[in-house]
This record gives sequence, C-alpha cells and structure tokens, in this order.
Amino acid sequence: MATARPIRSMDPYAEQFWTYTLKKELRLQKCSDCGKFRWPPGPTCDKCLSEEAEWAPVSGRGKVLSWTTFRRKYFDEYPAPHTTIVLELDEGPLFVSYPVDVAVEDLRESMVLSLRWTDGQDKFGEYNLPVFGPPSA
Ligand SMILES: [Zn+2]
Repeated sequence: MATARPIRSMDPYAEQFWTYTLKKELRLQKCSDCGKFRWPPGPTCDKCLSEEAEWAPVSGRGKVLSWTTFRRKYFDEYPAPHTTIVLELDEGPLFVSYPVDVAVEDLRESMVLSLRWTDGQDKFGEYNLPVFGPPSA
C-alpha cells in the first residue's frame, strides 16, 4: 500500500498531471503555439494568449531557489520539522516539492537537484509524488 499523504486538491488540470505521474512521467502544460510552459496549468497562455496546450515532458532537473522548514505540524502525514523547496526547472517553471537524500543544512541556493519518485495515496487513489534529490553519479 502506498504512503498516506494529505488530500490533493483536484481539478481537471491536476487530474491530468497526476495521471502522468502514475507512469512516473513529469509533464507540465506547455503552450502549443509559443512553447512557453504554463505552470500552474490554466486555460490560456500568459505570453501569447493561446488556448492551445499540450502536456510536455520536462527534464526533471532544476536549481534550488528557496526552501522553508515548517516547525509546526500542519498535516498528520507530515510531522514537523518538514521542509519544502522551490526549484527553477531547466525549462523555466518554478516547482514546489520536497528534498530527499539531502540534509536541510546542506541545501544551497542554485544547487542542482534531480527528479525522484516516491509513492502516495489519498482519497483520490494512488499516485507517484515527484520529489528532488542530488543527481545520481
Ligand atoms: Zn503561448
């Protein structure tokens, strides 16, 4: 059984995103007209106003922009202290995730991390959660 996690907020865009994670594919919405990645996903491109979009795979590499350690427990599934990171993916979008296999005190701005997967389960079912750790050698 997959790891219990807080309930995901779900809408048609999120549903699409999580469906790809079942195949361990990190795909983000990308404008079909100008190529800009749209994250979070939405109905129109903020660069060219196109309504056309596809779900394009991303490299899974990013640079750490920032991180926060929560010293209070917000979810039973995530006991404090609990650290989140903001990454700038190689393709440009900012992506919020969790660091793995790296100690919080070793996190550095611009540190390159790469995609890992861990499992998750909530009332919507099982999924894979994209998390980020040091690139494997
Ligand atoms: Zn566009």
